[in-house]
Amino acid sequence: MANLEVKNKNVYTKISCTCSTYLCHWENYSGRKALVCSAFGCTETKDLVGAHVINCSETSGSRQYITPLCKSCNSSHNSDCFKLNASAILVAVSYRSKCKPC
Ligand SMILES: [Zn+2]
Ligand SMILES: [Zn+2]
Repeated sequence: MANLEVKNKNVYTKISCTCSTYLCHWENYSGRKALVCSAFGCTETKDLVGAHVINCSETSGSRQYITPLCKSCNSSHNSDCFKLNASAILVAVSYRSKCKPC
């Protein structure tokens, strides 16, 4: 499978579910710990955030997902599509069934 390509969607809204943070929301649904940045070729393990992204292969472009990114990969300057590493997981922001504080 080809690596996912995503685009940053910078939103700074307060989290709207019961998860403590968006990174926590991602962990609840991915079943993983956020240990490393999801961007292809990036190995940053510090300062990870649950970044809002849009899947570049989806034509509507309105569905938002969370994936762990480091601060520099989550920069608002990255407005182009970029690849994620092969094991990256996207979790929809709208998921609610497994939300809980981490
Ligand atoms: Zn990164
Ligand atoms: Zn949640």
